Amino acid sequence: MSVVVIGGGPDGLAAAAVLASAGKQVTLLAPEDTLGHTSAGLEFHPGFRHTGVFPDADNLSTLAASALRLDTHGLTRVSVHDVTVCTPGRDPLTLGPPRTPALVGRVLPFLGKQLVAPAPDLTDGASLVPLIGPALGFRRLGAADMMELLRVAPLSVDDWVAEWEDDPIVASAHMLPALRGAWMGPRGPTSAGLLLLDLARRGAPVRGGPAAVVAALEAAATSAGATLRAGAGVSQVTLDGGRVTGVILESGETLAATAVLSTVGPRRTLMDLVSARELPPRTEGRIRTVRCRGSMAKVHLALAGPLIPTGCSAAPERVRIVGPPTALERAWDDVKHGRLPQSFMPLDIAQPTVADPALAPDGQHVLAVTVPFAAQDIDGGWTEDARKTLLDGVLSSLESVAPGARDLVVGHEVLTPSDLERTFGLDGGHLIHGELGLDQLGPLRPAHGLARHRVDEVPGLWLGGMGCHPGGWTGGAGGVLAARALLAG
Ligand SMILES: Cc1cc2nc3c(=O)[nH]c(=O)nc-3n(C[C@H](O)[C@H](O)[C@H](O)COP(=O)(O)OP(=O)(O)OC[C@H]3O[C@@H](n4cnc5c(N)ncnc54)[C@H](O)[C@@H]3O)c2cc1C
Repeated sequence: MSVVVIGGGPDGLAAAAVLASAGKQVTLLAPEDTLGHTSAGLEFHPGFRHTGVFPDADNLSTLAASALRLDTHGLTRVSVHDVTVCTPGRDPLTLGPPRTPALVGRVLPFLGKQLVAPAPDLTDGASLVPLIGPALGFRRLGAADMMELLRVAPLSVDDWVAEWEDDPIVASAHMLPALRGAWMGPRGPTSAGLLLLDLARRGAPVRGGPAAVVAALEAAATSAGATLRAGAGVSQVTLDGGRVTGVILESGETLAATAVLSTVGPRRTLMDLVSARELPPRTEGRIRTVRCRGSMAKVHLALAGPLIPTGCSAAPERVRIVGPPTALERAWDDVKHGRLPQSFMPLDIAQPTVADPALAPDGQHVLAVTVPFAAQDIDGGWTEDARKTLLDGVLSSLESVAPGARDLVVGHEVLTPSDLERTFGLDGGHLIHGELGLDQLGPLRPAHGLARHRVDEVPGLWLGGMGCHPGGWTGGAGGVLAARALLAG
């Protein structure tokens, strides 16, 4: 059986490794010159590199790590990074672990298991046997924890965190990561559930960040015998009589395959790579409504010296600049209303050169700044002026906690959601190929009838990647689960 895997991000690489290890003839195709996609470390200014468009690799799924034995391919973990929390007019503090109620410790293992298991099959006539395990796991939490989980998950993260954290700045710092990939601010109902999922996903970070995850996955796929082709974008998945026959590359080359597993995003795969004429109406109807609105930007800064916020004795590796939850919600309001950020901009920052000085020239530094609230569809679009305003907002935020930061900047790269769409082909500029929301999770991710990776109405086509269950992040789990589903037929 010959399988084409489309996409060279962590999930594509993980899928290729699993399929090749099972003896399939696998060809992975990706348009970029360097495999890894947003996870690859790239030079963004002469002499300055980041370790991946996203800075952290603490979400690497235990599933991918163990299924592919990534430790044998050079992957090592480091201890959790200290996060320095800054807010204007107050001394910085080191963020400790969240003081969540004891319930959380008991519930996370249950949630963690759901994140490495296939999505439940809820189609008519499906066997109920696979549902017994999760149902028993839930029941075993006991009545009190079950009820508390059912109470907490639909809450807003602002309301829930306020129950156990008195300091609003610390509260904001804890809730910020949970909102990545969601179309909501801290007062959005169900955002507490997203924080629980985020905590369940998180583990020890990988040494070398996402770029190191990519290197290990690439080694696993290559040593299993997969052919990895960079610089090979796919323009079409070909069908004959509704069944997959292969792909046509952007170069015009055709490749025959008995199965195609795509990790480019479910909506893009079905709406763009399969011809609209050939996509069965039921599948088309299900995928068309998937929401995929980018709400985050990234700015890379090349600095002449380290960023040291006022009150810090040394350059921190991770910094979160936040205001109280109200300020986060206001920043979200700008996204909601399609406006450029109007006031104080919360930021999530990595300074990877603290751990790895080789990423920049001697004594100089890299800042990888995530702007958690930046709409894809701002009024007037992302013009050059709008991009300058975004950069200026980032620099003002940095100045507010580290006066002089602006003068350290010797180079920059601004990636608005629109740039992320154009440069990386991310559907809607959305970082995980589909918003996280109750109706786009688990058996509904990406949509009803598609969560188990198989596209029933297009035999031979399989969906993997972060737009599918278990959703986002660098886990590789979406690729592993899709590959296993394909192998199981
Ligand atoms: C700004 C930003 C911040 C992020 N922050 C974090 C973070 O802090 N922590 C974290 O864990 N994750 C973060 N992520 C998410 C992370 O990038 C993803 O989890 C990870 O990349 C998932 O990998 P994937 O393989 O599913 O998808 P992708 O990495 O998107 O890979 C998709 C692949 O499909 C390819 N492709 C697209 N079109 C075609 C085509 N026509 N033909 C062939 N190939 C095609 C792409 O080129 C790419 O190789 C962030 C993402 C972004 C964009």
